[in-house]
Order: sequence, then structure tokens, then C-alpha cells
Amino acid sequence: MLVMKFGGTSVTKPDSVAAINTLVQRELNRQPILVVSALSGITDLLVKLSHTILDYEQEDLFEQIFMKHDLWIKTIFAANMDLQTSAFKLVHDYLDQLRELLHSHGLVNQLQLHDSVVSFGEKISSALISLFLISNGVNAKQVLATSCIITTKQFGGADFIDAATKKACKKTILPLIEQGVVPVITGFIGANTVGETTILGRGGSDYSAAIIGYAVQSEEIQIWTDVNGVYSADPRVIKDAKLLKQLSYQEAAELAMFGAKVLHPRTIQPAVRADIPVRVLNTFNIDNVGTIIAHAADNSDGTVKSVTWKKAVPLLNIYSADMFLSKGFLQKIFAVLAKNNISVNMLSASEVSVSVTLDTIGKLDEALQELNKFAKTDYIEGFGTVSLVGEQIMNKHSLMQELFNLFQATSTQVQMLSYSASNINISMIVPTDKIGEIVPLLHTKFITMSN
Ligand code: ADP
Ligand code: ASP
Ligand code: MG
Repeated sequence: MLVMKFGGTSVTKPDSVAAINTLVQRELNRQPILVVSALSGITDLLVKLSHTILDYEQEDLFEQIFMKHDLWIKTIFAANMDLQTSAFKLVHDYLDQLRELLHSHGLVNQLQLHDSVVSFGEKISSALISLFLISNGVNAKQVLATSCIITTKQFGGADFIDAATKKACKKTILPLIEQGVVPVITGFIGANTVGETTILGRGGSDYSAAIIGYAVQSEEIQIWTDVNGVYSADPRVIKDAKLLKQLSYQEAAELAMFGAKVLHPRTIQPAVRADIPVRVLNTFNIDNVGTIIAHAADNSDGTVKSVTWKKAVPLLNIYSADMFLSKGFLQKIFAVLAKNNISVNMLSASEVSVSVTLDTIGKLDEALQELNKFAKTDYIEGFGTVSLVGEQIMNKHSLMQELFNLFQATSTQVQMLSYSASNINISMIVPTDKIGEIVPLLHTKFITMSN
């Protein structure tokens, strides 16, 4: 079995939609399982819709959502009126369901409503892509991931539950494969143990693909997107970025975690657990070899493989005069953050203070209130991270010195610096307005000129 995930641009543009058919036909004997994102821009519109209460604003958003699908249908099924009719019916039915959900929702809270609303992007795209493949003679079938990815209950960013998901995937997907059907599964969404729709976080369809690959033990997980693979930096920003032919799981996880949008940060976890290679490929250039992500990566010379950045990373400084005297102080802090669904990416501690960067902002106000009961806190915005990623990165002894020279030359004040024990990533917290200046310099110095 082969999991093939097609992202937003890939399921939207006519050339890449045609490529999906070519690829599926080409790989039929490897038993493809498709995972698809919503059409480009649809999830953003649905997020807005979930926060809108005014009727006329809702109608405007419905119109915009409809028009994007309308254009898709008229372009992809241009020559076939029957297919257009079927596709319009399907879109209208889903939009009617969505209207009903918004008008009569009995859902307990706004977050739950949000997840149910945004799930419609993938519901519609998976139905359209199945219809398109069927019209090309493929025995395809839409599958809603609510029947195969079973998640925790956190709306907005749930995680999958291992045993329940494996069981559900086997029950839902394997019989289809045995019958020679190509499942077209909604990315991004799942359902919690009581059947309520959840999402895996923005950009989460990559993660869906990895979860499904893991659950059915596929031979490979392919992430089809709009660039040739993983580059040494975002190729839309750094024009001479290099395509990386191969990355270790660790390297890929680090660069996704520290800002490379090409992969959702959690994609690697399930793949590495089941030792399944992940390949990142371009739907607009289907014969390109892409980037392969797997175990081995000989990088003992500490070559910097990639520069990544995140423009906005909130910082939280926590001070307490008697920190070291009180046992379990850090534990207390992390318990409060975890309880409020806030995760931490970087940490530095001194005798009287702890600084952390916050990765997801859950219930921040509640967390601050609780922390303020036993410490003083400062929540600071205006900073971001820049990171250098590569196995054995610290083996290059001159690296730190060169880094500091560069920061001095650009008068960049580094707020925090961290490198992990795994010797794979150096990350610096710097003012957001410096990132645009230093990223190209870092790339030139550590990648273009060093390789
Ligand atoms: P999809 O809709 O297929 O999931 P995304 O927009 O989420 O696509 O991710 C692909 C984009 O990721 C590329 O268009 C590129 O601009 C961006 N990107 C950021 N960092 C990198 C990187 N290091 N290598 C490749 N692409 C990157
Ligand atoms: N459609 C979702 C989003 O835009 C998931 C994805 O594309 O991966 O976030
Ligand atoms: Mg993506």
C-alpha cells in the first residue's frame, strides 16, 4: 500500500488535478490510498465562517466558498455536463448541511463548532476528487476520516489515539483495498471517541497521511505538494535554495517544528514509529525524485542542511526568587501550561527565572493567572526564531563563532539560543523585524558558501 497525500494547490489547479489521475493510474498495482486537502483558500474561508454570526457576512462567505468550487467544477469537468450536474449537486448538499449546522447547532462550544465547520473543506474536496477519478475509470471511493482517525478530545488540534485508530483504519480501509478500490480520504480531520468531529491543526493533512500510513503499515508515505521537495530554505523566499535529496527523520522533524511549512510538524512521528519512508514530491513535476526522509543520514561533518524561521514566537518569562529552593518548580510550571493546552518549544533557565517559547497558544489568560499565583510572569511578543538544522551540526567547531560574527555584523540582539542534546538544531530567538535581513545571510554563509 502506498499513501499519497495531495495538498491544497495540488487538488485545485487543473494541471495538478490531471497529474493526480496520472499518478494513481501509474501506481495502481501498489494499492494507492489518497489523502486530500481542501481546495486552496477554502479552509481560511471556513475559519472565518465559524467566527461570523451576522447573516449577511455568512452569506458573503458562502458565496465565496461556492464560487471557488464552481470554478473548479467548470474547469475540471468542462467537457461533461452530466459530471458538472453531479458535482454541483454534491457541493450544494454539503453547503446545505453546513448552513444547517450553523443555524441550528447544538454543539457545546465554539471550538467544537469551529472544527465541524472547517471539516467541510476536505469533505467537499474528497468527494470531488473521487468523482473526477471515477470519471477517469478509477474505482475510487470517498472515505471520511471521521471513521478512521480516532483522536483525543482537544478541538482545534487533536492528536490520534494509536490503538483505536489502527483498529478503525483496518476496518474501514483494508476491505476497500482488498476489493481493488482506491480510497480518497479527507485530510485534516478525525473524530474523538464519542464521534464528534475534530481537526489535527492547520496544515494537518500531512499528519493525516502519516497516521493512515502508520495504521495500515504502508510501504511509503508520499506528500505531493507544489515544490520539488524539501529545500535548504523556503524556495519562495530564498531563490538559490537547494533541493535536499535526502533527510533523516530527525532532521525533517526539526525543520518542520521550527518553521518549514512544507511538512506539518507532527508528520514524522507516526512514520518513524513504523519505520516508513516519507517522500516529498511535486504534483507539478511528477517525474522529479523529490526528497526522501528515512533513518539513515550520514552527516558526520555537521553540514548545515537547512535554515528555517518562524516570524512570530511568543516568549514567556517566569520569575521566582526562591525557585531553586522549591523542589518541582519546573514541574509546576509545565503542569499549568499543559493543562491549558500550551506547548513549549524552547527553554532556558537560570537560578531565578525560566524563559520558554510557546508553540501553540491555548488558554493563555487562564495559564497566566495560575502562574501568577506562585511566580511573576512577562508575556513578550515581537520575537521569532531562526534555526539551522543538520545532524551533528555542532561537530563543525567554527559554527558558533561564525554565527556570532554574523549577529554582530547585523547588530542583531539574540534573546535566547538553544541547541539540543541530539546535536541537530541550533535555534535563536531574535527580533521579528531582523529575520528578513539575517535569513538570506545565514543561508549564503552556511549553505551556499559551505557546500
Ligand atoms: P500543501 O498545500 O501542498 O500542503 P504547503 O503550502 O502547506 O503545501 O507547503 C508547501 C510550501 O512550503 C511551499 O510552497 C514552500 O513555499 C513552503 N516551504 C517552506 N519551507 C520550505 C522548505 N524548506 N522546502 C520546501 N518548501 C518549503
Ligand atoms: N486544509 C487544511 C488547512 O488549510 C489542512 C491542510 O491543508 O493540510 O489547514
Ligand atoms: Mg501543507
